[in-house]
Order: sequence, then C-alpha cells, then structure tokens
Amino acid sequence: MGIRVRYAPSPTGLQHIGGIRTALFNYFFAKSRGGEFILRIEDTDRERYSEAALTDLYDTLKWLGIEADESPEKGGEYGSYVQSERTEIYREYARRLVESGHAYYCYCSQDRLEKLREKQKKDKQDFGYNRRCRTLSESEIEEYQQESIKPVIRLKIPLEGETVFNDYLLGEISKKNIDISPDPVLLKSDKYPTYHLANVIDDHFMNITHILRAQEWLPSCPLHIVLYNALGWKAPQYCHLPMVMGDNGQKLSKRHGATAVKEFIEQGYLPEAIINYVSLIGWSYDDSREFFTKQELEKLFTLDKLSKSPGVFDYKKLEWFNGHYIRQKSNEELKELLIPYLVKCEFIESETMPGMTTFLDEITALSKERLKVLSDIKDLVWFFFREIDTYFPEDIIPKKLDAAKTIEILETIKSHLSDVFSKSEDKVEELFKTLAEAAGVTLGNFIMPLRVAVTGSNVSPPIIGSLKLLGIEKTTARIERVVNILKDEVSNNG
Ligand code: GLU
Ligand code: ZN
Repeated sequence: MGIRVRYAPSPTGLQHIGGIRTALFNYFFAKSRGGEFILRIEDTDRERYSEAALTDLYDTLKWLGIEADESPEKGGEYGSYVQSERTEIYREYARRLVESGHAYYCYCSQDRLEKLREKQKKDKQDFGYNRRCRTLSESEIEEYQQESIKPVIRLKIPLEGETVFNDYLLGEISKKNIDISPDPVLLKSDKYPTYHLANVIDDHFMNITHILRAQEWLPSCPLHIVLYNALGWKAPQYCHLPMVMGDNGQKLSKRHGATAVKEFIEQGYLPEAIINYVSLIGWSYDDSREFFTKQELEKLFTLDKLSKSPGVFDYKKLEWFNGHYIRQKSNEELKELLIPYLVKCEFIESETMPGMTTFLDEITALSKERLKVLSDIKDLVWFFFREIDTYFPEDIIPKKLDAAKTIEILETIKSHLSDVFSKSEDKVEELFKTLAEAAGVTLGNFIMPLRVAVTGSNVSPPIIGSLKLLGIEKTTARIERVVNILKDEVSNNG
C-alpha cells in the first residue's frame, strides 16, 4: 500500500504558522511519494469547538492551494472525515477495550477528582488519577449504575515495563509505563471520545502510514502506543516535527507577532511566499537553495532533510520572500492584488471608476520594487489620493543645508518643471544631476526637499515617476506651499 498521511486539526482557533507547516509537510510528503493526503477534522472537544475556526481552516487551505485527496468536502472511501460524525465507532471500541480488560469504567465525580487534586497538591505530589475505579467490585459498580452516574472510560496503563517506539526523526523513544499519565480518559461522560481514542482509531481505520505532527504531541505518543497495543493494531510510523520558535528561542506565539495565517493574508502576504518560507522552517533541500515553488516542493520534499533542531520563524526573512514573490508577479496580476487594498483605505471606490485603469497600472508599476507586503501600498501612494496635512521644516531641510538653500533648490526645480514633465525619466535624472551640481549639493540632498514636498515623506516610490503621475499642477502647488513654509521659517528665525 502507498503512503497515506493526514492533517488532523481541531477547529478551536485560527490556523497558525505551526499548523500550516504541519499541513504543508504532510501534503508535500504525500505528493512527492505519490501517496495520499487526508484532511480530518478532530472536533470532539465540543466545548472548544468553533464554527469560525472550521471556516478559517477551509479558507486557509484553499488560499494555500492545498487540496486533500480525501476530506469532509471531497469525501472518500474511509469517511466520514469529521470525528463528531464517527462517535459510534469510538463508543464501540471503547466498549471492546473494557471487555478485553484494557479499559474500565470510572464513576468518580468531578467533585471527587477535585478533592484528589487538592490533596495531591498539598502533599506535593504530581497530579494524576489514582486508579481508584480500576478495582471496583461487582457490587460497587452495580451501586453506581443504580445511582445513574454517567461514567467515563479509562485506559489501563500498565504499571510495569516500558513503552518503546521509533520516531523517524528522533529515533527510539522509550518511557517507563509508570511515568505515563495514569489511566487517561478515552470516552468522556458525554460519550464523546477524547483526542487520544479518536485519533488512534481514525489513523488505524483510515490506513494512515505516517504521522507527521508537531512536537507538542510527542508526550502523548507513548499513551497512543499503549492504546495501539491494547487494540492489537500496528502503529503508523511517527515523525514529530521540529519546533517552530520565535527569535528568542521560545515557542512561536502571539508575543512574537502575527501567528494566524489570516493576519498574514490581511497584511498582504502571498501564498507563494508563505509556502516557500514556512517550508524552510525545520527543513532544507541543501545548504544553499532558498526558492521553491509549491510545484517544486511537491517533487523535492523528503523527510531525510528534516532538521532535528528547532526552526526559527524570522518575520524579516518572510517579508523578504514576499517582496521577491511580489516582484515575480506581472504588473497586471499585481494590480489586481492591490485593488482590494486601495479600496479598503478608500483611495478608490472600485477599479471600474472612469479613467482609473491606466492610473492604477502606473501606480502598480511605480510601487512594485518597494512593496514588501501588499498593504504597504497605503503608505507608498497615499499622496496621489490625499492632500498633505502638515509639513515639518525639519523633514524638508536636508541635514547639511539650511532653509534658505532649500528654498533655492525648490525654486530651481519649480522653474524647470515644464522640462520635467515633457522629458523622459532618464533625461530628467540627468537634468537633476546637472542642477544639483550647479547648486553645489549632492543629488540626494537636491531631491530630498522635493520628495518631502510632493509625497509628504522621505520614503516614496521613485520620485520622477511619482511627479509625472501626480501631474504638473499638484506638483507645482505642493512645491509652492513648502517654499512658503520655509520662507516663514527664515523670517521667523531672522
Ligand atoms: N487534533 C490534533 C491537533 O489539533 C491532531 C494531532 C495529531 O496530529 O495527532 O493538532
Ligand atoms: Zn474513578
């Protein structure tokens, strides 16, 4: 049989970087080996279940372009792929485990467990169920049944020996049975299974061959092996993936910045960049290659290139990848991607506004080189759509010059504006060089006041293109306004 892997998220929160890394690795592993990638929804924790999380999951996978071979949406031979629709199977196998002596009913009330916890805390013991109901007599059980207490079913973890399994990445792992959490619940009193039971049963019946999942599940693994043994099944090959850390060596979390994929999408990250970068967290193809398309990863991904040490999520690096993929877009594609952002900041109502198309084409071309994320467009091009509220002389006057010199530069430029608007960009650049030289200042200092006057900021799209797009009228007006401000400045100080 071929390789079958699964992504098995619990819909309790938004999809985050760690989650989609697991999804991608499973997906790429399946593709590269001609296997199958299954999507299974682990929604048996009814208290934490969230409809919004489920929608986010489907949206995110669609956005990444990851299509499962079998899933709730697509169906498949081993469905249902939603655990809440499979409760009968879990109940049946929990019952069988009781019958075969591997599990037992526990009638302990929340109250009793709470008291036990308090006592263990007082005695400075680790918390754990004390296996009380493992040894109930027939008559005690009958009594409880008559009181119609709803029991849970617990797994008997052996008291002796050890549980050993092999992790593809981490090698042989063994744990003393006595150190495995004592007798975990398999079936809750609401008759929903716990994660452990449902996860093991589904992986078995869905013929999963490899389990690639986050390292946070490693501690549960011995328990799962005990469960496989109790059921008389062979466990799949495990491979716990290297942790995803923030730059301070701690597990990536909100403290480091955005972690939800949705936030990255809103900021204007492209799926190409997220896929490429996220695939390099804890995996590499060789020591040097950095760029991979999704199609390439579908061929090149291999487990033997996983790293044992944690991967660091570097926001700057992701941004850099994103800039790269933005520049890979054709201007037409990029324009389409930018329009929703321009609409959102109310610069335009829609791309269908008369005369908008060419203007948007030019804005796109002008900003392409400077965009790191699509939402950067707002700060880059706002000056085309809005008037500049305030100018601060200290922003306009270059460090080594004074107000009078700055006025002189701006007046010079103003007197050459008809050339600026009639000549090619190359010619204008030459002109500026000549004028800067004549004024005895560097080209940078020559252009700076102009840039601030016209764009309101000292970072902007290429200035000559910006002027041309803004038009001679607005350019003239803004330069004049700034000159007046500087003149006031001179007379106030003089
Ligand atoms: N439902 C678990 C999760 O949310 C699945 C863990 C596993 O892959 O076994 O991550
Ligand atoms: Zn009990």
